[in-house]
Amino acid sequence: MKLTEAELPKPLISVVVPAYNEEAVLNAFHTRMSALFEQLPGYRWEIIFVNDGSTDQTQRIINELCTRDRRVASVNLSRNFGKEIAMTAGFDHAKGDAVVVIDADLQDPPELIREFVSEWENGFDIVYATRTHRDGESWLKKATASVFYKVMDRLSGKVKIPRDTGDFRLMSRRSVEALLQLREQHRFMKGLFAWVGFPSKAIKYRRDPRAAGETKFNYWKLWNFALEGITSFTIAPLKFATYLGLLTSSLAFLYGLWIIGKTLILGQDVPGYPSLMVTMLFLGGIQLFFIGVLGEYLGRIFGETKQRPLYFVQGYTPAGSAGSSHLTIDTHTTGNAQHCRHQTT
Ligand code: UDP
Ligand code: MG
Repeated sequence: MKLTEAELPKPLISVVVPAYNEEAVLNAFHTRMSALFEQLPGYRWEIIFVNDGSTDQTQRIINELCTRDRRVASVNLSRNFGKEIAMTAGFDHAKGDAVVVIDADLQDPPELIREFVSEWENGFDIVYATRTHRDGESWLKKATASVFYKVMDRLSGKVKIPRDTGDFRLMSRRSVEALLQLREQHRFMKGLFAWVGFPSKAIKYRRDPRAAGETKFNYWKLWNFALEGITSFTIAPLKFATYLGLLTSSLAFLYGLWIIGKTLILGQDVPGYPSLMVTMLFLGGIQLFFIGVLGEYLGRIFGETKQRPLYFVQGYTPAGSAGSSHLTIDTHTTGNAQHCRHQTT
C-alpha cells in the first residue's frame, strides 16, 4: 500500500544549541524557537541543548525544558570543551533529516531558519547565514574579524571559507554525515563546514546583539581561534618560512660576495660591529619565530596522534522524554566513534 503525501512522516529537523553559562537566555531562546516551530507545522522538531560544562544553572534550566517540552533533548558534556566540540557533540546526537546549528544567545535570529528550510527544500545541502551587520560588537572585534577573513581567504586555497559567516546554518543529513567523518581534534568548524563541500547557499542577515549574558570569547580566545584556523587549515606559514629563508640566504650570499670583493680591492677592512649585530639579531629573531611556527604545527600533530575521544558525555536525555526525568540515560559516550555509542551504566 502506498502512503499518500499527507500520511508520509514529516521530516525531522534537529536544532543544535551549544550552551556555556547561558542561564540568562535559555528560556527566552526556547520561547522564540517554539514560536518559530508553530510557523512551520510541516516539520517535526527537536532542540538539542549541549551543555558545555557550564558553571551556572544552565543544565538545571535545560532539564526543566526537557520535562516541559518533548522536543527538547539534552547532552551534558563532562567539562567545558569549547564551542567547536560542543557543536560536534550536538551533531553526533542529532537525528534529523536536516540539522540547524544556532547560538543560544539569540544573536542569530531563529526566524531565519524559515528561509534555511525553504532553501533546503530547494535542494541546497548547506544553507548558511552571512552577516551584513554586527550590532553590539566593538570596532576592534569587527576590524580583527575582517583581517582574519582576508588572511584565511588568501591562505586556504581550494577550500573557500565564506566571509562573515558564523556557525549558524542548516545542513542536510548527507552533509552532516560527511562532517561527522572528520574527527580531528583541532576543529576549526568554519573550515570543516567548507571542506565537506556540497551545494551551498548564503542568506544575508543582520546579527543582533546578545539578548543577555556575556560573550565567552575574549580577544585572547579569538586570537587562538584565528591561529587554530590558520594552522589547522593551511601550511602557508611553513611555506613562507621556506621562501623567507631562501631570500635571506641569497641576500647573505650577495653581501658575502660584496665583502670579499671589497677586501680584495680595497685591502683589509675592519668588519663593522653594528652591521654584524643587526644581521645576527635579525636572523636570530627570524629563526626563533619560525621555530615557534614549527612548534604550532608540531603541537597539533602531537594532539592528533594521541587519538583521544573528542568529548565525554555525563548525561544524555533524548527528545521525547518529557515528564520522565528518570529517562535520562547516564552515558559514557565518547566522541570518538563516527556515530556515538551509548552505554547505559
Ligand atoms: N559556547 C560554548 N562553549 C564555549 C564558549 C561558547 O558552547 O566554551 C557557546 C555559547 O554558549 C553560545 C555560542 O557558543 O551559544 C557563542 O558564544 P558567544 O555568544 O559567547 O560568542 P560570540 O557570539 O560573542 O562570538
Ligand atoms: Mg554570541
